[in-house]
Amino acid sequence: MNCPACKDPMLVLEYEEVEVDYCVSCHGIWLDAGELELLFGDRAITEGFMTAGCPSHAKGEQVLRCPECLRKMQKETTGGEPPVVYDHCPNNDGVWFDQGELATVLKNGSSAQGGDQVAHWLHEMFLAEDEEAMPPDEDVEAKPSTGEA
Ligand SMILES: [Zn+2]
Ligand SMILES: [Zn+2]
Repeated sequence: MNCPACKDPMLVLEYEEVEVDYCVSCHGIWLDAGELELLFGDRAITEGFMTAGCPSHAKGEQVLRCPECLRKMQKETTGGEPPVVYDHCPNNDGVWFDQGELATVLKNGSSAQGGDQVAHWLHEMFLAEDEEAMPPDEDVEAKPSTGEA
């Protein structure tokens, strides 16, 4: 499956029972229908949270096509602060989150504490990506200037 935003092939990552499609290029995340609920697990999503936000937040966002059925996806805005604008397939194939948005949704949308577990996993995933992308630190800055020796 290709990323709806940049069309690169996505990686399939697994978190417990949940398969997550992840784009290495733009760091977006696709969740099949029902997977968001699985990620939340036994933590209740506040009723209506996923559509509680003001639709005006979606203004100016690029229209994306569903990576499965290629229909234009609909913009939805979550409640919470900051609200997250995400894309929702009209066929209910799944939902698309841009970089970092899923972590925000998980953090703001769940009332119970365990939510941080998934957010933490996502964070680690992005962190690992960043570390891989960065060249290793050269030892140069670790040494103090010899000017005053
Ligand atoms: Zn992408
Ligand atoms: Zn679709």
